[in-house]
Amino acid sequence: MRFVKKISTLKKIISHRKKKGDIIGFVPTMGYIHEGHLSLVRTARKQSQFVVVSIFVNPPQFGPKEDFRAYPRDLKRDMQLLKKEGVDVIFNPTNKEIYPEGYKTYVEVFDLSKILCGVSRPTHFQGVTTIVLKLFNIVQPDIAVFGKKDYQQTVIIRQMVKDLNLDVKIVIGKIVREKDGLAMSSRNTYLSNDERRRAVVLYRSLQWVKNAYKKGLRNPKKATQRINNMISKRGGRVNYVEAVDKDTLKPVRNLKKGTLIGLAVYFGKTRLIDNIII
Ligand code: AMP
Repeated sequence: MRFVKKISTLKKIISHRKKKGDIIGFVPTMGYIHEGHLSLVRTARKQSQFVVVSIFVNPPQFGPKEDFRAYPRDLKRDMQLLKKEGVDVIFNPTNKEIYPEGYKTYVEVFDLSKILCGVSRPTHFQGVTTIVLKLFNIVQPDIAVFGKKDYQQTVIIRQMVKDLNLDVKIVIGKIVREKDGLAMSSRNTYLSNDERRRAVVLYRSLQWVKNAYKKGLRNPKKATQRINNMISKRGGRVNYVEAVDKDTLKPVRNLKKGTLIGLAVYFGKTRLIDNIII
C-alpha cells in the first residue's frame, strides 16, 4: 500500500495502472475509518483491480460554525485498517495541495443542494461536489463508491456525474450500523455515553415508520410528526424529518414504496443523520 500526498505522484501511478488495463476503484472519505467505510472499500475491491481511498477533511464543506477543527483524525489507525483491506493507495493531500492560494472554482448542483440537509448547511453540498469532482479528476476512477447513509449526497453526486458527462460509475453501499442500530459515523465519537444511548431512537423511529407503513400508514405528516415526537422524547433536537421521493427528493403526498424518510437530529452539539427507504 502506498501513501501519497501529492496530486502529481498519484496521477503518475494512476496513468501507469490504466495503461496496464486496471479498473480503478475509488472511495473518498474524511478518515477516522470505521466499518461503514470499510464496507465501501470491500465493494470497490470486488469491482476493480486497483483501489484508491482518499482521506481528506475538506474545509469548504464545513460551515463557519461547524466542526472542521474538531473533526476526529487518526491517520495511523486509518492506515492500519485500510492496509488490512488490501487498499493500493491512500491519498492524503494537504489543504494547500487541494486549494492552493488563489483557488476560485466551485461546483454546485442547483436546487438539490438547498433542500433537506442543505437548509441548515447551505454551502455544504457545494463543498462536497467541488471536492468530489476534483478527486475524480485526480484519481480518474472507473467506479466510485459512496454510502447510503449520506443519501442526499449520493443523489447530488449522481446528478453531477450525469450533468457533467463524467465517465465514472457510481456505486452505493448500504448503511452499516452498530449492534443497536445506530448508523456508524466518525461523529459518533462526539456523543457522551448518555447521548449515545439515546441516539438509538433514530434507528428505532425509522424502523417504526417502516412497520407502520406495512400496517397501512400513508400520511407523511402523521409519520414525520410521530418520528419527531419519538426523538424529542429521547432528548434529540430535530433538525428535520422529511418524507420525500427517493429519486427526486421532492416531498411525497402519500407514503409509498420508494419513499425516503430522511432525518437530521442534534444530540447535544452532535448532528446525526439517518434514513430509510420504505
Ligand atoms: P465520511 O468519511 O463520513 O465523509 O464518509 C465517507 C463515505 O463513507 C461516504 O460515502 C459516506 O456515505 C460513507 N459512510 C459513512 N458512514 C457510513 C455507514 N455507516 N455505512 C456506510 N457508508 C458510510
